[in-house]
Amino acid sequence: MRPITLVASLLAVAAGPAAAFEACVADLERAAIARGVPADVAAAAFAEAERDDRVLALADRRPEFTLEIWDYMAFLVDAERIADGRAALAEHRELLAEIEAAYGVDRHVVLAIWGIETDYGRRTGDHFLPHSLTTLVCAGERRRDFWRGELMAAMELVAAGDLALDALYGSWAGAFGHTQFIPTSYRRLAVDFDGDGRRDLVDSIPDALASTANYLQRAGWRTGAPFMIEVTVPEGYAGPAGRDADAPLASWDARGVRRADGARLAGEGEAGLLLPAGPDGPGFLVFANFDAIYAYNHAESYALAISHLADRIAGYPPLRTPWPTDDPGLSRAERRELQERLIAAGFEVGEVDGLIGPNTRAAIRAAEERFGMEPTGRAGRRILEALGG
Ligand code: CA
Repeated sequence: MRPITLVASLLAVAAGPAAAFEACVADLERAAIARGVPADVAAAAFAEAERDDRVLALADRRPEFTLEIWDYMAFLVDAERIADGRAALAEHRELLAEIEAAYGVDRHVVLAIWGIETDYGRRTGDHFLPHSLTTLVCAGERRRDFWRGELMAAMELVAAGDLALDALYGSWAGAFGHTQFIPTSYRRLAVDFDGDGRRDLVDSIPDALASTANYLQRAGWRTGAPFMIEVTVPEGYAGPAGRDADAPLASWDARGVRRADGARLAGEGEAGLLLPAGPDGPGFLVFANFDAIYAYNHAESYALAISHLADRIAGYPPLRTPWPTDDPGLSRAERRELQERLIAAGFEVGEVDGLIGPNTRAAIRAAEERFGMEPTGRAGRRILEALGG
């Protein structure tokens, strides 16, 4: 089979990109069947697969690396998500206790991942994985083998009876379900916690939250140990910093690092020091458990947001040190308010959804120009206030 497929693909390339895409899709369908996916299911998965330019555009950007840290934290750890997290903590108290007993992972961290990944199951993504992943395999520029592996893992979950084909809706990158597992992580780490014989992270909250705890446990979570504490550093601090600059707490104490409330550092264990906005902004000592969170999504800003939201759900106060900016970031409620004020002032933003997409950014730039401000397109407090109430 293989050499014939290859020849067919080469001939198709010669015939043009559309034919090459079709040949690639046919090859994926055959590969899925070879992995045990019933032919009718494979046919349904790939029948209408076509190049999706929306997916290709999304593959070129990652908000964690383009937003200011204070913008990122302001909408991910806002009053709504904290309140919803506390409500979920109460509603699922028994389940969370069982999961904590089984995996040893702090329930607030599990809730924070649920809250940030999908707003507690409200936004799980609308990309049909067989189509979005096919686009990345057959029309993408990078990591085609990786996407192919994710696509095949997704199809195997259907073949194994964990999920129906129409459960496979998620992010452009194939993350799906309540806590946005990619298919290979799902195959490796998902657990059936509600005992119905299926690992269902799409429709079963027990399966999804237990699988998330299992993920963190396998990533090295240490039961009862800290993940992050807010600290300050001495003025003009220029000493070591970084997630991997692990040192005993006593040595950070000796360098003048203090808890954000001014208390001396005490206790065992090693931590790295993060200063995401420099020495004048909030500092964070981050422990091995922070690295387990980082393993879930490789961005320090992400792990900071999860850690802080977990603390807020658990009842700890907001960050004590303000971000070093005179134009702070906005919560989701404030982003919606900004969109409403833009509309009231005559600018086009499309739907009022709190999401800052190209339309809203263009409207912000136009509004900034009207007020004689530098046009940035950024959703911040200054433009919100300039637009009045
Ligand atoms: Ca289950």
